[in-house]
Amino acid sequence: MFENNGYLTSPDNRRLRLQADCENCFGLCCVALPFAASADFAIDKDAGKPCENLQSDFRCGIHNSLRQRGFRGCTVYDCFGAGQKVPNYLRRSRLAASARIG
Ligand code: SF4
Repeated sequence: MFENNGYLTSPDNRRLRLQADCENCFGLCCVALPFAASADFAIDKDAGKPCENLQSDFRCGIHNSLRQRGFRGCTVYDCFGAGQKVPNYLRRSRLAASARIG
């Protein structure tokens, strides 16, 4: 899946690759993951359903007041970079597939 350009052998590189990059996120976790109304989340959300706070630009509409609005779970969650890596991987796969077809 990933090229081995030091990724598998260097602890520093491995750690860097597992960091979330919110500026390049597509809201993957805000859509894919479910959560239940609780002390951590103000509402129920099914897997695959966009959170009602997710905006069309893939930004959280209540980012600056998550805890006050009852979304403490979002402040402690860490995707370890999945939010930007998975969509980029899927996009590259789709481009590769269309290049093979075309
Ligand atoms: S509240 Fe914001 S960070 Fe939490 S799931 Fe919804 S859109 Fe994402």
